[in-house]
Amino acid sequence: MKIEDFPNHIRPYLIPEVSGHVVYRCLGCGAEYDISRLLYTCPACGSVLLLVDLDFDRLKKIPAKTWHQIFDYRKMLNNPALSGIYRYHEFVGPVIPPWAVIYLGEGHTSMVEANQYLQNLVGVRFYFKNEGQNPSASFKDRGMASAFSYINFLVTSGKLSDVLAICASTGDTSASVALYAAYLQPGVKSAVLLPHRKVTPQQLAQPLGNGASVFEIPGVFDDCMKVVEALSEQYNVALLNSKNAWRIWGQESYSYEIAEAFDYDMDHKAMVVPIGNAGNITAVISGFLKFFEVGVINSLPKIIGVQSRHANPVYRYYLEPDRKKRKFTPVKVRPSVAQAAMIGNPVSMPRVVKLVETYNEKAGGQAVFFAEVKEQEIMDWQLTANRNGHFVCTQGGESLAGLLAAKKRGIVGKDDVVVLDATAHALKFAGFQAMYFEDRFPPEFEIKPKKSLQNAPRLIRPEGIRILPTAEKPLKGKPFEQFVQRTAEAIAEELKLKRIK
Ligand SMILES: *Cc1c(COP(=O)(O)O)cnc(C)c1O
Ligand SMILES: [Zn+2]
Repeated sequence: MKIEDFPNHIRPYLIPEVSGHVVYRCLGCGAEYDISRLLYTCPACGSVLLLVDLDFDRLKKIPAKTWHQIFDYRKMLNNPALSGIYRYHEFVGPVIPPWAVIYLGEGHTSMVEANQYLQNLVGVRFYFKNEGQNPSASFKDRGMASAFSYINFLVTSGKLSDVLAICASTGDTSASVALYAAYLQPGVKSAVLLPHRKVTPQQLAQPLGNGASVFEIPGVFDDCMKVVEALSEQYNVALLNSKNAWRIWGQESYSYEIAEAFDYDMDHKAMVVPIGNAGNITAVISGFLKFFEVGVINSLPKIIGVQSRHANPVYRYYLEPDRKKRKFTPVKVRPSVAQAAMIGNPVSMPRVVKLVETYNEKAGGQAVFFAEVKEQEIMDWQLTANRNGHFVCTQGGESLAGLLAAKKRGIVGKDDVVVLDATAHALKFAGFQAMYFEDRFPPEFEIKPKKSLQNAPRLIRPEGIRILPTAEKPLKGKPFEQFVQRTAEAIAEELKLKRIK
């Protein structure tokens, strides 16, 4: 729809202008820094940063009803800059001019309600939000759209040149970095560091296909992360891990979309989010907080962070009920099918600690919870979901297993409506499904397949047929008719079909 066709009162708000006064704020010492350069940690104390809009209160002057209309009407615009995460421009990046926005189709992923069978089985009403529908097939694209739009802004305004974007990755960050960097070539190039044999073949194919320099490093993700940190401290590179605060801003769009999908009524809602490096849960918490502070939503939903027993440092930290006695200890990770979240020392931990405190305070009681699940539960629930019309990844299975754990502990009840984060596309993790179906999990995974969830292709070779069709030599005439008939009969027998003719 064209601008002149919108109602008068909404027109001035449709196309956002550059606004706000954004700074990096250190979570350790509180120091603030100018955003005219890329900065990842506090030069004074070394702690992680968050982006803060010092002029945020201006957004409170616009009534909630108007905000709802702004976001809803923006859907009708044919404007790429406002088609993705920047539909919420005022909240995710008010200093980025719309002309600098890089839009590759990220955001606005579907939210699909589970069928009645699955909801009855779980005992709660719930949806999957399918983050695998993003352009590189994971939620990471939300954060990359933000970080690369900012980089594009710096490059085009002459503040930055010859960018080398680097990251450590459990697979999806590198896929996303490589995609967005390739779009901005030749001014932007990318190099990604992956733990050797700890990303899936599909995830490895992505940065290779997008032309990134790909380095495999012995060890696990946490080792790669240290190397990348050393590179970003000593060389002129752009760090694209979620340590980069611009990533967090873009990922907040996930919360805004959910609020929009529920017409901004967040009473009796709960979110389940898998945790790895803890960037995503940081963004989800921060997003709901911002909408709540401005009055766009009326209440704060419950948030449940889930970790596998094989990589559970955040869960363990919160086991201690006394806030003052909590002490963070990194864990040594063990193999996990939720491989994208297999992280023992999450970079965003200080952000989580800070935001959880604020969130609980504003919610007037505990509203953020942490759950732990077994590898077996992750696989069983992933496959169960997919047998009911979803196609969620292992981390999506982790979300569903986390919902069951939360229900058992009374964190969510019958009156709650839950949104599960299915963080990536199932095909990226098809190898784990195959290991389950073929009962090939090495013992360290601690996964025994359930027969009822296994599946395998059956090769049909009808008896009594000697000549079979091949690509080079198709069958014709009588032999072909015989082949078709016998094959149909063999399948009918396997499926125990009733004859009607
Ligand atoms: C990155 C990732 C996670 C973990 O998110 P964090 O922000 O690192 O906590 C979970 N699932 C998938 C598919 C991912 O790619
Ligand atoms: Zn500091």
